[in-house]
Amino acid sequence: MAKLSSIQWDVTIIGGGPAGFFAGIRCAELNPELKVLIIEKAQQTLGKVLISGGGRCNVTHACFDPAQLITYYPRGGSALRGAFTRFQPEDTIRWFEKRGVRLKTEGDGRMFPVTNSSATIADCLRESAKKAGVTVQTGTSLQKVESLSENGFRLEVRNEVQEFHLQTKKLLLAAGSDPKIRDMIKSLGHAIEEPVPSLFTFNISDKRLEGLSGVSVESATVKMDSLTQRGPLLITHWGVSGPAILRLSAWGARTLFEKKYRAVLIVNWLGDTSFDKALEVLQRHKDWQENTRKKVSADPAFTQLPARLWKQLAYFVGEKNWGDISKAEIRKLAEELTMGNFEIIGKGQFKEEFVTCGGVRLDEVNFKTMQSRVVENLFFAGEVLDIDGVTGGFNFQSSWTTGWLAGTALASA
Ligand SMILES: Cc1cc2nc3c(=O)[nH]c(=O)nc-3n(C[C@H](O)[C@H](O)[C@H](O)COP(=O)(O)OP(=O)(O)OC[C@H]3O[C@@H](n4cnc5c(N)ncnc54)[C@H](O)[C@@H]3O)c2cc1C
Repeated sequence: MAKLSSIQWDVTIIGGGPAGFFAGIRCAELNPELKVLIIEKAQQTLGKVLISGGGRCNVTHACFDPAQLITYYPRGGSALRGAFTRFQPEDTIRWFEKRGVRLKTEGDGRMFPVTNSSATIADCLRESAKKAGVTVQTGTSLQKVESLSENGFRLEVRNEVQEFHLQTKKLLLAAGSDPKIRDMIKSLGHAIEEPVPSLFTFNISDKRLEGLSGVSVESATVKMDSLTQRGPLLITHWGVSGPAILRLSAWGARTLFEKKYRAVLIVNWLGDTSFDKALEVLQRHKDWQENTRKKVSADPAFTQLPARLWKQLAYFVGEKNWGDISKAEIRKLAEELTMGNFEIIGKGQFKEEFVTCGGVRLDEVNFKTMQSRVVENLFFAGEVLDIDGVTGGFNFQSSWTTGWLAGTALASA
């Protein structure tokens, strides 16, 4: 540690996550003269990369148009617009390919290493940092930071055995959503948008969903207040999940937090089929089946719906045949199919990706350089910023982009 303290560091990066590594590598590769240090409080770096995407690491998304890409960010999209013109998924793919890691695209646009192992990504980042001459210190955490204006920063850090000080000319905070770091950032004079969870599933206790855990619908439309999303929906033990729900949770993260995760979810199980259209199809189906003895519950009028789900949405018809149901019942069925109301009673965890929204206020950061507009020589990258994306590789992409931009700016003496 005496060695670390005795060096006057040019660049110190707090956080050995994807944003910190990308910045450190970029900076050291551009300017090998610089002394670049990454400090990581955990015993190993890149912890989230290793557990990401169910152990496969959803590195980025096959979306190469910055204007479209920003629509996947409930917070931070407009700030990222320019940033993505400088470094976007295409650049991420090239960056990894240049270092021997090939990515593949899945049907829904998510991109993973061809090895299907997040260790491939972590190993590549660690190896690249080593090659570029970046010093990485694990098991060491930033405790306090003091700005010395044009002379840089004095850092108080601690490892298992002792506390010591470091001097650095430039400082990059890439410590994710750590609450202590937020307090330090506030102490430096920056404003923070308070953190709340994003990307979660909805807890719903409703007879219509009972026993349907594992049943999915390919394209449902889900609404909550003024928010609407369409996509796959999965029924779980606790309620609902799947891309449509996760996207709704991300866009509604702040509102739902304020409402203590209680709200009404409106589900159109038929995607974009309107109530009137559903009514028409149901009436036609009834006319065809009028003289048969087919039970409504056993004879779905919409083939795209799983039979078990249809049966439960038609619960109120009981054992009736198609020929015996009333006009009012047909209307009710159309309503259940296209605008079913479900009460959200809490939030569940989406195990493949946890994300927090909130962080450093974006108007206090220059997105060309990721430099603070408040404190000289201070930079930010990654989840420490008030940026978050929906699930699909967008969160890593914002870390790659902001890390790369910060690293580029940090390299200039
Ligand atoms: C289970 C899970 C799965 C995920 N899967 C995906 C996915 O497949 N695709 C995707 O795009 N996104 C995924 N994400 C989100 C993604 O991991 C984050 O967006 C990304 O890791 C943010 O990178 P970062 O470098 O900003 O922060 P982090 O990865 O959080 O890294 C910050 C680092 O800073 C360290 N640190 C904190 N405080 C201090 C301190 N005081 N001193 C020193 N070090 C400190 C932390 O220990 C940490 O290692 C997933 C997240 C989780 C939790």
